[in-house]
Amino acid sequence: MIVGVQPLAGFDKLLHYKVPAALAAAMRSGLLVRVPVGARTSLALVLEVDVPADVPVERLKNVLGILHEFPALTPDLLALARWMHGYYAARMEAVLEAMIPAAVRDGARLKQERYLSLTRPVEATELEALGRRAPAQARVCQFLGQQVRPVRKSLVLSRLNASAAIAAALVKRGLVREEARAVERVAYADHWSSGEIVTGLPPRLNEEQAAVVASVKASLEQGKFAVHLLHGVTGSGKTEVYLRAVEQVLAAGGSAIYLVPEVALTPQTVARLRGRFEAAGHRTVVWHSHLGEGERLDGWTALASGRARVVVGARSAVFAPVPGLRLIVVDEEHEPAYKQDETPRYHGRDVAVYRAKLAGAVCLLGSATPSLESFANVRAGKYRCDRLTRRVDDKRLPDFLIVDMRIEAMRQRGLVTLSRLLVDHMHQRLARREQTILFINRRGYSSSMQCRKCGHVEACPHCSVAMTYHRADETLKCHLCGHARGAPAACPACAAPDIRWRGLGTQRVEEAVRRLLPRARLERMDADTMAKKHRFRQILGDFRAGRIDVLIGTQMIGKGLDFPNVTLVGLVDADLSMHVPDFRANERTFQLLVQVAGRAGRGDRAGEVVVQTFTPKTDAVQFAKQADYDGFAEAELEVRRRFGYPPYRHLIHHLFRGPNPEKIRFLAEQWVKQVAQALGALVEVRGPLAAPIEKVKDEYRFQVWYFCARVPQVVPELVRLQAAVAWPSDVTQVLDVDPMSLV
Ligand code: ADP
Ligand code: ZN
Repeated sequence: MIVGVQPLAGFDKLLHYKVPAALAAAMRSGLLVRVPVGARTSLALVLEVDVPADVPVERLKNVLGILHEFPALTPDLLALARWMHGYYAARMEAVLEAMIPAAVRDGARLKQERYLSLTRPVEATELEALGRRAPAQARVCQFLGQQVRPVRKSLVLSRLNASAAIAAALVKRGLVREEARAVERVAYADHWSSGEIVTGLPPRLNEEQAAVVASVKASLEQGKFAVHLLHGVTGSGKTEVYLRAVEQVLAAGGSAIYLVPEVALTPQTVARLRGRFEAAGHRTVVWHSHLGEGERLDGWTALASGRARVVVGARSAVFAPVPGLRLIVVDEEHEPAYKQDETPRYHGRDVAVYRAKLAGAVCLLGSATPSLESFANVRAGKYRCDRLTRRVDDKRLPDFLIVDMRIEAMRQRGLVTLSRLLVDHMHQRLARREQTILFINRRGYSSSMQCRKCGHVEACPHCSVAMTYHRADETLKCHLCGHARGAPAACPACAAPDIRWRGLGTQRVEEAVRRLLPRARLERMDADTMAKKHRFRQILGDFRAGRIDVLIGTQMIGKGLDFPNVTLVGLVDADLSMHVPDFRANERTFQLLVQVAGRAGRGDRAGEVVVQTFTPKTDAVQFAKQADYDGFAEAELEVRRRFGYPPYRHLIHHLFRGPNPEKIRFLAEQWVKQVAQALGALVEVRGPLAAPIEKVKDEYRFQVWYFCARVPQVVPELVRLQAAVAWPSDVTQVLDVDPMSLV
């Protein structure tokens, strides 16, 4: 038997090896193996089994060993790896390293121990019968029956004074399972989920939920690939729909993957999921970045072996090696956090859809503010749209109060942090013992220019994105087309002086609240607080218990928060995300407004949202106020169509960086000519231009944009052209397909 493998050793090449007889029976594609590469031993993934070799068989070396008994990549994952390699222009090795956790790749280094557990509950009568024939075996059975999780074999045997033969006999009887598990080398405290579980009876579905569950159920029963987009307003009970879909899959013996943008920020959701599935006897693997190596390997083994059939996690959980995948849920599918910002630069949602396609599974995307990409796929008939138009128990969506900060600035004569209206509403909440959350918009980009008097923002006449201010040469530049003009000293619209944008920090807002509402109990959550996990949990706990009146934080903390006593949400500076040089700026702002508003009025009392903005008339603000997603999406799609932006075309970003700017610019210019020649009408090339941040760590950065109808027509060609050029060693290039951020 001969296998073709991809070594994880720093190069992309298919190598062939012989399989010794002892390993032949276990050999499967997708397994991790050890192979000799040159004088060293390397880890490799088996891509093909039983293939003709490209060299005479006698010259082939042997596979040295198999790392894990279960494939690291199931057949659908193998196909997915190949697709990612081509689509995202990422090296195969980099793709495999993203798909297979380091703990699994290093698995051999982790200390393994044998563990015992019962394969099924053993009745008292059965135990008695066994006791008469084999008392020692019965004692082991009884002991294991009292344990909640597998126990170390050595511990069981020494404790019961039993021999290994007794355990072996039980395994042979099929009563006991013996398995190898990684032992934690370091005691590890999990602050994020810490085994927290929320239990409780599932609620009765309301009519809308029942209709959506039935629609998803129909697709699951068909057993074919389908994508559902669940568009449900905030608080409409989307999670309950996801739960029912997962339960259906588990009951039918299948596996499910449940993706959330960030596990650490959604402890409530995770606890709810675990409560539901574990109550039904399904081990739930929670996959997050704070797992210890042993825990990760343990979770992975449980999934790969089929012992656990449901995993909850951030984007990399999409690669869980579960057999029998029937469903992938992508909660908050619009979240940019699903995009990975290092190689391979994949989008978790898009990969989920593609994996579902390869596995013949159902992909369930959900959001209160679906991405325009997904919305367009619904319109094109590719996705089915299910809707939840009302909040659970007919709770009202919050009312939007828009504060025009231009007027506020005139009234209060100067820079305003908190408007009169917002402060008044906060006072009311204090008096009524209700809670307030103030959000600071951190998606901002401080180099945009906005007039503090009239709100004017200078946009590129060719690209409809905000121009970026460059202090060095006092210019405004467009980062999509390169259009430039001198930076105005006064506002071009109203002639007011000093129009440079300054964002608000969480500290400034905190000071303002302390000054204006000295009696309010106040807590601030920002990057510093987030770094201390126990602090984060403590603040959330205090807020839930009502020990905090006002919580200040960036929108990052807003995800999935469900606090019934919050009746007021303030967005302190809506403009920051609106005027960034990115064609998605409007979409982001709309999403931000709706999601932030979604935190208010989730309990019995209605909620209100106060939005402070210098540009109250923009589409994002107006449509969010009306809670009109469709209206916003239609209007925004029209703009995208006019300029040929996604979702009408794909966008690819190409970054060149290195210490010598003249050299990079020259190379990039040559490159662009080559691309234009080779690809012609298949691609529209813009650039090279200086990147928005021109210099990072003494490296100069230039960028090229490609707009194209189909990525597979362009990326392989770019990669081929790239390989044909002898690039100098001090120039680094990065291709980013479907980038989620332009700045
Ligand atoms: P969404 O994800 O759409 O914002 P959630 O799924 O978080 O909404 O649901 C909001 C709240 O409503 C949660 O506390 C949830 O337990 C509750 N809920 C969901 N469905 C029902 C139902 N059918 N009956 C009563 N309460 C429900
Ligand atoms: Zn432009």
